[in-house]
This record gives sequence, structure tokens and C-alpha cells, in this order.
Amino acid sequence: MKIVFLGPPGAGKGTQAAQIAAKLNVPHISTGDMLRASIAAKRSVGLNAKSYMDAGKLVPDEVIMGIVRERLQEEDAKKGFLFDGFPRNLYQAQQLSGFEKLDAVVDIDVPDASIIRRLSGRRCCPACGAVCHVDTLEGATDCPQCGEALITREDDNPEVVRQRLSVYHEQTRPLIDYYTGLGLLRTVSGDQDIAKVQEDILQELHSV
Ligand code: AMP
Repeated sequence: MKIVFLGPPGAGKGTQAAQIAAKLNVPHISTGDMLRASIAAKRSVGLNAKSYMDAGKLVPDEVIMGIVRERLQEEDAKKGFLFDGFPRNLYQAQQLSGFEKLDAVVDIDVPDASIIRRLSGRRCCPACGAVCHVDTLEGATDCPQCGEALITREDDNPEVVRQRLSVYHEQTRPLIDYYTGLGLLRTVSGDQDIAKVQEDILQELHSV
């Protein structure tokens, strides 16, 4: 299966993509995670991308297309993939169409008001990648999965969140029309609990 997850930042793409990719036995490919790993490893790709990410802007297309093409060369991607956070604009989508034939694009739809609430309370584990929310942590500051101290992503501060949302509306949302035109779009409400969103996504993918 070759799948793309679309949706605003904080829609739950990462959480859903990790679980669904495991169920479908395809790699979960998150360009955001790859860039953050690259920053942590002090590789030049990451260090060059960091200023864009911290400002809530898109990293230049040639950088993204480079890491995506390289990732798709790996053995595990031969059986399919689940992209999370890629493509992010029409150019990337058209490039992807040029070398891969997708089976489905799932749009996880969440209103802006929920996004701002979600991202401002989001806490991430730098060790195991778990993503939590202050509302469910009951004051805990360590990862419920591995015990590491949770962090707030630099780009989850309110000003950058607003910028990321506006980039989403201007550049990523047009992909809904693009993939609708290709007959690939499936829309799921992301404004429900995690298990229900997952159930709805799996149901959509079942009919692919
Ligand atoms: P994410 O974790 O998907 O929210 O991505 C975090 C940040 O990484 C974004 O705000 C962008 O700065 C950058 N990024 C991730 N994926 C892409 C992409 N496909 N195109 C451009 N920038 C990206």
C-alpha cells in the first residue's frame, strides 16, 4: 500500500500513521521526524532546515525531495509506505506523482480552534517519540512509555503554530483538490478520540 496522510499540523497524523503503518506492515515516513533526527545528529541537511522549521515555514522543496527520494531507495519502502507530512505543497505532490502511484490519500480533518488547543498542550518524548497532551498527563512531566523527560517542540509555541497553520491553509490545503481530482482522497474527522479516528481510517483504507 502506498498512502499519504494529509491534515493540518496537530491533526494526529503522526500518532495515526505510526499505528496504521505498523498494522499494514509498511514504513511510516515522516519528513518532519527525519528532519528532526537530522538536526539531532547535526547533519547539514537538518542544520540547514532548522531555521525554516523554527519559523514555522516549509523547508525548501529540493531538500525535501532529496530526503524523500533517498528514503524510498531503502529496502523496506519497496513494499509500500505511509507518508506523514509529505507532500506539503502542490510542487511536492506533482513530483511524487511523477515517480510513485499512490493507492490512497487520507485527509484527517480538524478545525483550527482544536489545532491551537492541541499543539499548545503537546509534549513529545525525545527518546521514544511518544506524543502526549498536558490534559492527559495529570501533571506528569516524564514520558508515560519510557520515563524520559518530555519536551515541548520549539515549533509548538503559539506564534509559530499560527504561522504553521497559515502555511497549511495556503500551501497544503490545495492538495485536497489535487487528490480529489485524482480520485484518491478519503476524508476522516480527526476531531474524535484516537481509537475512533483510527477505526475510520482503517475502514476507508479497507475499500481501497
Ligand atoms: P511536522 O513534524 O510534519 O509538523 O514538520 C515540522 C516542520 O518540518 C514543518 O513545519 C516544516 O518546517 C518541516 N517539514 C516537514 N515536512 C516538510 C515538507 N514535506 N515540506 C517542507 N517542509 C517540511
